[in-house]
Amino acid sequence: MTRSPETPEIAIVGGGIVGLVLAAGLTRRGVQVKLFEQARNFREIGAGIGFTRNTVNCMEKISPGIVRALRSGGSVNVSLDQTDPKAYLRYINGYGIQREDDPMYQKPLLRLDAGVKGWETVRRDQFLDDLVKEIPEGVIHLQKRLSMIVDEEDQDKVVLQFTDGTSVEADAVIATDGIKSTARKLLLGADNPASYPQYSHKVAYRALIPMDKVSAAIGEYKTHKQHMHVGPNAHLIHYPVNTNTIGATVVISDPNNWPLDKPTTARGSRKDVLEALANWSLPVRNLVDLFPEELDQWALFDLAEYPVPKYNKGRVCLVGDAAHASSPHHGAGASFGVEDVLCLCTMIPEQTGQFSREQKVSKGDALRAAFETYDKMRRSRTQWLVNSSRRVCDLFQQPDWANPAKRVKAESCFEEVKDRSFKIWHFDSGKMEEDTIRDYKERIGM
Ligand code: FAD
Repeated sequence: MTRSPETPEIAIVGGGIVGLVLAAGLTRRGVQVKLFEQARNFREIGAGIGFTRNTVNCMEKISPGIVRALRSGGSVNVSLDQTDPKAYLRYINGYGIQREDDPMYQKPLLRLDAGVKGWETVRRDQFLDDLVKEIPEGVIHLQKRLSMIVDEEDQDKVVLQFTDGTSVEADAVIATDGIKSTARKLLLGADNPASYPQYSHKVAYRALIPMDKVSAAIGEYKTHKQHMHVGPNAHLIHYPVNTNTIGATVVISDPNNWPLDKPTTARGSRKDVLEALANWSLPVRNLVDLFPEELDQWALFDLAEYPVPKYNKGRVCLVGDAAHASSPHHGAGASFGVEDVLCLCTMIPEQTGQFSREQKVSKGDALRAAFETYDKMRRSRTQWLVNSSRRVCDLFQQPDWANPAKRVKAESCFEEVKDRSFKIWHFDSGKMEEDTIRDYKERIGM
């Protein structure tokens, strides 16, 4: 693709899922992109991640190569049920022996229908590996850790400085540098509490387990279908991540503090998890028995207490977890980053390029306006997710699940869980694209 001089040069900081999706989308639109990742290699953990239908649609609009990577990474429908191709999220009671004559019985509580192929799950590491292959050569620069951004109003370009002493220039910077974002701190200042993530007082334990073993532990039916087991102070979710592996995550409440300067993972053990789930139902305990004896404990941080007041400043903006890191209880943090990327790709470069070509505004002003529009379109929905994720976790983990007299009250939460889930799953990305263009044009005076 030939580039006109008006086509912006964009620097992306951070090569996680969101940064790579953005790089795929912008390069497809002819934008000159440089992506800077601090690590030596791309790394993702071998755990599961899921995307609902509307996120996959957003990926398709950003670049079909992203969906290709998802599928070649081995994604499967979240329910491997040959008789019903729909993807359901099934909530069941995970606590206690619920039938004396059948210790494997668990009461179904809610079945949410995400539609046919409505939820695709994949191993993160395999998806990321295949996503990298979709990025053209020369775009990715590894071992580049951002330390400073200089965005002077009267200068043509923004300057990025790295810890190795090098620097580069770009027309704008899009920071996808994750929950501990350096760019966020640079934009907001080190004194602003919103510069730092906050501990949500939950820890997660994750495992990938061969399906044949899971089947013997919890039964064939549950093995092939996504299930969320709820109970007092903890919950467990599991789903197939490919045709022979289950991804399982246990989330446990933790009243203690977790200092920000401590690594967010610590060594944990299966024994700790089993102790926390001492009185839970037999299938839950059977499944946890299949976790490795030693495993990582993940402290779950988010940006709920001090949300980022603005996602943009000048020619710099924050996208994905850098802007709105969420706890994972809706399974939608990366999905919302994908929606962010679609919003930006709607404006860059077609719209920004067109205006500067017609010499209505400078390239810099076109990009500043695009980032203002992005902030307006995305901030309230994404901050809602951060709050909602904490809220549903409280509902999943109500202490009342342990009190038979309060069980009916505990169960009354599911209407709310349904509404919150559907707000995520039934997002109208086409309307977001229309609103984005309209707002951007108004801003630019067209
Ligand atoms: P990251 O993946 O954190 O990437 C940031 C990148 O920036 C990293 O590669 C990092 O090395 C780099 N970086 C950082 N600082 C610098 C710097 N100064 N210079 C250069 N590079 C830098 N989401 C879903 O949509 N579906 C799910 O099913 C789901 N399940 C989840 C389950 C769990 C247990 C958890 C914890 C999260 C889950 N999420 C899920 C959320 C999802 O994992 C995150 O939202 C997503 O990974 C964020 O991607 P990102 O690219 O914004 O940030």
